[in-house]
Amino acid sequence: MSYRAKDAIVSKSISASQPPLARSQQVSVEIWASMSDETVDVLIIGSGHSGGMAAKVLTEKGISCLMLNAGPVADVKKDTEVKPAYALPFRGFKQPGTLPHVFQSDEFNANTWVDEKEVPYTYDPQKPYNWVRVRLFGGRSLFWSRQSFRLSDYEFKGKSHDGYGDDWPIALADLAPYYSRVEGIFRVRGRAEGLPQYPDGNYVLDDSPWSGCMQRIIAAARQKGIPVCKARSAQGEDGLASSVNLLIPDAIATGRLRAIPNVVVRELGMDKNTGLVNEARFVDRLSRREMSVKARVVVLAAGTLESTRLLLNSKIANSSGVMGHYLIDQVYGPGIACSVPEARDGKSTEALMGGSALIPRFRNIDTKAKDFIRGYALNLFSGTGGMDPKHFPEYGEGLEKKLASYHGSGFSTGIMGEVLARYENHVSIDKEVVDAWEIPALRIETKYTDNEFNMARDAVDTSVALAEAAGFEVLAKNYDPNPPGYSIHELGTCRMGDDPKTSVLNKWNQSHDIKNLFVVDGAAFVSAGWQNPTMTILALAMRSSEYLAEQMRMGNV
Ligand SMILES: Cc1cc2nc3c(=O)[nH]c(=O)nc-3n(C[C@H](O)[C@H](O)[C@H](O)COP(=O)(O)OP(=O)(O)OC[C@H]3O[C@@H](n4cnc5c(N)ncnc54)[C@H](O)[C@@H]3O)c2cc1C
Repeated sequence: MSYRAKDAIVSKSISASQPPLARSQQVSVEIWASMSDETVDVLIIGSGHSGGMAAKVLTEKGISCLMLNAGPVADVKKDTEVKPAYALPFRGFKQPGTLPHVFQSDEFNANTWVDEKEVPYTYDPQKPYNWVRVRLFGGRSLFWSRQSFRLSDYEFKGKSHDGYGDDWPIALADLAPYYSRVEGIFRVRGRAEGLPQYPDGNYVLDDSPWSGCMQRIIAAARQKGIPVCKARSAQGEDGLASSVNLLIPDAIATGRLRAIPNVVVRELGMDKNTGLVNEARFVDRLSRREMSVKARVVVLAAGTLESTRLLLNSKIANSSGVMGHYLIDQVYGPGIACSVPEARDGKSTEALMGGSALIPRFRNIDTKAKDFIRGYALNLFSGTGGMDPKHFPEYGEGLEKKLASYHGSGFSTGIMGEVLARYENHVSIDKEVVDAWEIPALRIETKYTDNEFNMARDAVDTSVALAEAAGFEVLAKNYDPNPPGYSIHELGTCRMGDDPKTSVLNKWNQSHDIKNLFVVDGAAFVSAGWQNPTMTILALAMRSSEYLAEQMRMGNV
């Protein structure tokens, strides 16, 4: 049922830019609680990085857009105010039984994440999946850690390099101009390294000096032919690099974006005569009122698995039969914890300790690892604060002395490893389970195999070898990956490709089956690489949206 004009409740403005940001404070998201029978030009589902980018590009090209988002507009300033532990019912610990798969959650940030009871998903208990979701307006862009990398042709053309899987239908050269523009918008800090597996970009120069302990690791790594580079990270504005402060304000400034929070899209409808998608049916999260909107074009940006869930529930765009398959992410968890002896007993100085670095993929570039393909990166961190007591076997006074002695001497590594794209790792609709709005839930079936486990082992052994060569004391090694999904980099399930028989989208993120349907989030990925994916999601969303605008101008869509 459509809302008609007479059903209008209110049309009010709420600040979408909660943090203290001069530019975005001038802008507001228009909240429409009413709908008419109008057909919108482009309907964008989702308001995170990918939806925000689509909105910015399309509205700046003169196209009117309506954005629907499942969750509320957050007042980031108010809602991120950290309460003291004594003011919380569980004293900072997690409420028992809540968010069991969100290892990142605690009582301080419990309001961030999607409640698994409200929006359940299912899995084989032997093969758990940690699906970490945010439904606030702005999605995960409000909380991401901002590591910002490009994929290289070792990922885009992985099959050509080692014979496994499939190449993407695009190469780095196709995406490089878009990466550069995205890096400019997000103010990515880094420096040129001149490595083909770690492509350089458009960076705010990071010319900060290395601390002494990092210099020692760099020297140890050089001996083994392993590069150590500056990490790359989006600075955004005032510490926030989100869609609500960097993308959506530009769209709103055009006067062509309307946005409705708190509405959950349940399915898309088709015009049987044209074979085009023409409608979205959605439910008000709070009142449970059912609504619908007609659209000329639909851009899905609900986050990889929610976009796929929506398409599977709508039973469209899957003539290939590969929708839901090739779910990928990245291996996280394995790494080591060390102490730098020279920094102990009060001798930790700024010159010796602190900072971070990145070892980009170095395996399977020019040589072949013996028991895994593809590769991993290592994040390196040097700490100046307290050590984790779990690294020491002592109790009581002994532990107190150890912690005091080791204070400020920490060094750690952590893997970011490529998970291979496999047909068997997939999602489907669970016919037995629905969410709070009676929308069928997703079933996730995925597991890591020897390639990921062997890669993780190599990452830990390599970390130990580097740390020992640098003269650090290794306190702990962890070889066990966290469950799939933990990296919060779920990708694939509507992969792109040139062949409509083996892929869901073409190289423009456009459905092979339905030309006015685009999926601009991580669902389009063919392979994951080791790189955090958001720069690639943003660059693809920008490229796809420009293509869509041009197709609309030419009357093809
Ligand atoms: C703690 C954390 C750290 C991270 N660190 C990094 C990092 O360092 N580097 C990196 O590259 N990436 C990182 N990521 C991942 C990054 O945040 C995501 O890749 C990126 O934000 C995904 O953007 P998106 O627009 O595709 O999806 P999302 O941000 O998930 O946005 C999807 C939006 O769609 C809406 N939606 C979903 N379903 C529906 C529906 N049915 N109807 C209406 N609306 C719907 C949701 O409300 C949501 O707002 C991190 C993520 C987290 C949470």
